[in-house]
Amino acid sequence: MRKARAILPLALLGLLGAPAHADDGRDLGRETLAAGDGWAAAAGGTTGGAAADDAHVFTVTDRAGLVRALDGGSATPKIIRIAGTIDANTDDDGDRLDCADYAADGYTKRAYLAAYDPRTWGAARPSGPLEDARKASAARQAERIELAVGSHTTFVGLGDDAVLKGASLRIADADNVIVRNLELRDAYDCFPVWQPNTGGLGDWKAAYDNIWLRGASHVWIDHVTISDKGHPDEREPTHFGRTYLRHDGLLDITNASDLVTVSWSRFADHDKAILIGNGDAATADRGRLRVTLHHNEFDTVVQRAPRVRFGRVHLYNNRYVVPGDAHDYRYSIGVGTESAVYAENNAFTAPGHIEAADLVKSWNGTALHQSGTLFNGFPVDLLALNNAYNSGSERDLTGDVGWTPVLHGPVDSAAAADRAVARGAGAGRIR
Ligand code: CA
Repeated sequence: MRKARAILPLALLGLLGAPAHADDGRDLGRETLAAGDGWAAAAGGTTGGAAADDAHVFTVTDRAGLVRALDGGSATPKIIRIAGTIDANTDDDGDRLDCADYAADGYTKRAYLAAYDPRTWGAARPSGPLEDARKASAARQAERIELAVGSHTTFVGLGDDAVLKGASLRIADADNVIVRNLELRDAYDCFPVWQPNTGGLGDWKAAYDNIWLRGASHVWIDHVTISDKGHPDEREPTHFGRTYLRHDGLLDITNASDLVTVSWSRFADHDKAILIGNGDAATADRGRLRVTLHHNEFDTVVQRAPRVRFGRVHLYNNRYVVPGDAHDYRYSIGVGTESAVYAENNAFTAPGHIEAADLVKSWNGTALHQSGTLFNGFPVDLLALNNAYNSGSERDLTGDVGWTPVLHGPVDSAAAADRAVARGAGAGRIR
């Protein structure tokens, strides 16, 4: 552990008393979701912590201050303004914690790999002293980086460069939460678990999503940037023949969460971006998981943009960019069990080795509405392509998802949205 105390630069101190965005004196912390702006506008709308009294408006510059402001996930209306970069992997004095600082009971990665090598351990799930040590170590990291967010909370970045690094925001069994103008970076798991029975070849599983909505309702996520910046999984080594994954989802929406709007945000440099519904057996999700995703950018995302089970999801005016060297790209829109995705006017840009038929993948899905889709500047019909080229294990999808979105702002053409999102999506870009 290094001992280095951060000293606030004078410029930052000057910012602390200022409103969230200096350009025009707006106080983002007091702003609420516009009427009609997606599913989070339903049933009373989403106001977050806008009603907070002055004693519950916090400006935080380190993890300790953030934890105090969160107050254990209390439901007192509160506005939490993040200034500069906050690293969740720090101790109570603000000193950086690395993976070795969390390791407990003799855990080392080398010992773990030696103990559960499939060539000697076989295909059973890891168990015994080293798996226990991994769990104990993981619990120590979780205690630092999992941050519970309560009802009636607004999180907002101050200025154009607020960053929350290494944290997993847990919006669990909470109602009425806003997260805006904030970069969330690198929710890095020091202690991935080996799952020998996942996907035939086994796989590494990391624990943390940058934001996890679990039993949450009325959530508005706007102008955030979420990525693995600085720590991409593609640079991780291979162990047991599989990439040693350090990250789970960027934004996962599960366990009967409902009424969510995600707007003008960037999801980048990541494998599994957004999971809506985490199990075919989670029938409590039926009728819930209603989510609107509009004017977001998915840049260099391998899969799940989003992957949906059960939910009625309105996906409009989003921009997808797959870079030329993305040889691990899998798909963008995942059509899962009982999902009802209404996709309109989305724009995709992808290199030559990716075809429009690759953009949609179905797992037990039955329907997808799509219209106005652009692929490399040309109109395409994702539904017809999916049905023409799907694999033998996939059923044809119908275009009737059983609902038509009513809660939404103006729907632009895909071409206009593509340009607007390139200019305006992400943290630090509220104008
Ligand atoms: Ca997850």
